[in-house]
Amino acid sequence: MLIVSENLSDLRAEVLSWKQNNEVVGFVPTMGNLHEGHLSLISKIRRCGATKTIVSIYVNPKQFGPEEDYSKYPRTLDEDIKLLKKLNVDCVFCPSDKEIYPPNEKNLITTNNPSLMNELCGRQRPGHFYGVLLVVNKLMNIVRPDIAIFGQKDYQQYILIKDMVQQLFTSIDIVLAPIIRENDGLAMSSRNSYLNPDQRSKAVYLYESLVRASKKIYKNAGDYMSILDTEIERLNKDDLNVDYLELRKTDNLSNVEDYKNISGQYILLGAIRLGETRLIDNIIL
Ligand code: AMP
Repeated sequence: MLIVSENLSDLRAEVLSWKQNNEVVGFVPTMGNLHEGHLSLISKIRRCGATKTIVSIYVNPKQFGPEEDYSKYPRTLDEDIKLLKKLNVDCVFCPSDKEIYPPNEKNLITTNNPSLMNELCGRQRPGHFYGVLLVVNKLMNIVRPDIAIFGQKDYQQYILIKDMVQQLFTSIDIVLAPIIRENDGLAMSSRNSYLNPDQRSKAVYLYESLVRASKKIYKNAGDYMSILDTEIERLNKDDLNVDYLELRKTDNLSNVEDYKNISGQYILLGAIRLGETRLIDNIIL
C-alpha cells in the first residue's frame, strides 16, 4: 500500500520501522509531473537493492530564479500518486514549503561554492545549484535512505550531489540512471509540455546535434571545438538559442585539456532555449 506523507515526523517514523526490519531504503527525489524517465529511476533503484522505495514530490522554490518557471511548473499530484500506486512504491513524500523551509529559519546554510556550480547550467541559472544542493541535503537528512538515485539528464546536478555526499561523509550510495527518451530521441522532461507543436518538432535537434558531434569527435579527436561550433551555428540557425554545447570529462565535469579517444571518458552536454523553454541533454562518448 502506498503511504502518502506530507509530514516529516510521520515519514521518519515509517522509515525507522523499515530500518528496524533491515529493509534497504531507496530514495527517488523528483519535482513531480512524473513521466517514464522518473519511473525508470524507481525500477533501477530496486535493481540496485532497494527493498523499500520512497519518491519525493516537491517543487523546490529555492532552485528557480526570479524570472524562471516556478509558478507555472506542472503540478499533477493526483496523477503522480496513481502512477506510483501502480508501481507499488511504498511511500510518496510531498512536503509543504513550510515543512522544508520553516519560516523561522534564518541565515540559511548553503554548501560552499564549488566552481562547478557556476559553470554550464550554473552560468545561465545563478543560484540554481545552491537551491538544488540545499533541498537534496534536507530531503536526504529527513529520509535517511541507504541509496538515492539521480538521472543522467541532469548530469551536472548528479556530479555536484555526488561530490557533496562524499565531502560531507553522508553515508548514502548515489546511483546514476540513464536518460529515457521519446521515440524521436528527445529526452523526456516535464518542461516538454511547454512546447508548442513547432517547438516540439525542433526540440529534438539538440539530441541530433549531440549525436552527430559526439560521433565526429569520437572518430577524429582532432579539433573538437570546430565540430561544436558547427553544431552551435546549425542550432542557432534553426531558432534554437544555444546556451552552451560543451565537451567535458565524465568523472568530474572538468574541462578537456588533451582529448584522447577513450570510451566513457568524455561527456558532451548541451542546453538550448526554445522561446521561454530551456531544455538540456547530454551524451557520454
Ligand atoms: P525532476 O522532477 O525533473 O527534478 O527530475 C527528478 C529526477 O528524475 C532527476 O534525478 C532527473 O535527472 C530524473 N530525470 C528527469 N528526466 C529524466 C529522463 N528523461 N530520464 C531519466 N531520468 C530523468
